[in-house]
Amino acid sequence: MFVPQRVIFETGSLDYPLGRQLYESFKAGNLQIIESSLNKVKSHIPGETTAALYQSGKNTLVVGVKKSLSFQSCKPSAHYQLPLVSGCIGQCEYCYLNTQLGDKPFIRIHVNLEDIFRQADKYIGERLPEETIFEGSATSDPVPVEPYTGALKMAIRYFAAQEKARFRFVTKYTDIDDLLTLEHKNRTEIRFSLNTESIIKKYEHKTASAKKRIGASAKLYSAGYPVGFIIAPVFIYEGWEKEYRELLSALRQEFPASASNPVTFEVISHRYTTKARNKITEIFPETTLDMDNGNRQFKYGQFGYGKYVYPRETMSQIKEFFQKEISELFENGEIKYII
Ligand code: SF4
Repeated sequence: MFVPQRVIFETGSLDYPLGRQLYESFKAGNLQIIESSLNKVKSHIPGETTAALYQSGKNTLVVGVKKSLSFQSCKPSAHYQLPLVSGCIGQCEYCYLNTQLGDKPFIRIHVNLEDIFRQADKYIGERLPEETIFEGSATSDPVPVEPYTGALKMAIRYFAAQEKARFRFVTKYTDIDDLLTLEHKNRTEIRFSLNTESIIKKYEHKTASAKKRIGASAKLYSAGYPVGFIIAPVFIYEGWEKEYRELLSALRQEFPASASNPVTFEVISHRYTTKARNKITEIFPETTLDMDNGNRQFKYGQFGYGKYVYPRETMSQIKEFFQKEISELFENGEIKYII
């Protein structure tokens, strides 16, 4: 269970029952409690360097009120982000949040969840009769703070009651037992991000092991949730084929090929931008992440900026490998894409 070193209550958060309840329970613990206005939050997080600020931020929980209720779009995986949480307790070296959240690496939860769902109602109404899909992990991994917020539970129940909306989120955490008995009506898809144990140990600090993630996903699958896997980022290193094969075999043991619900796979090879590389080396000066531009091919992405991806021949190898392994192991496997 995530226990922060400090909790910052933004002005207004104590006007909500969830804010007051969190305040009382954190007050009973041995941690620093700060009350602050929104624009002063950063000044309460110690750290002279980017790396120190990152460590402090990852141990800081900010309890706030979501003021701007205009949801960001979330193409291509969903129509909108559902802004339940931002930030994550994990310390994956390659994480997209390192650049996305910049100098705000803290975890922020919102106490006005009802307002957020009321806003979701509006977005759903606007798109009728089309279905609207919401993504709950665009700027976070929402699972570690779920015991504090109950936001995922609320979301799962909310979407179970919708006829024209769905919810999805992705996680590397396994504290999901409270979700198992909820009525979800197949409207929430839970995906697990997976990697080989050696990549997890090296680069995905403070996240659950692959074994635990697989165990949690199997429980959710048995509870009838649509379940999927994002194998990412795929790295090429000595023995990569053997280790990814072992990962898929471990998964296969939990998901019988004859199971009726499809198991979806998204496979994403490692890539980085210059901005990300600069940020990562500031936060993790000793990083051994493969970010040697000489080994990569530069490619312009759909959002107009360039990325360093594996060369064409390596990409073909990756595609061929996962295509073959997944189709051989999972009769009910559905590969959404391999990029
Ligand atoms: Fe980022 Fe996901 Fe790792 Fe959290 S678990 S640090 S969101 S990659």
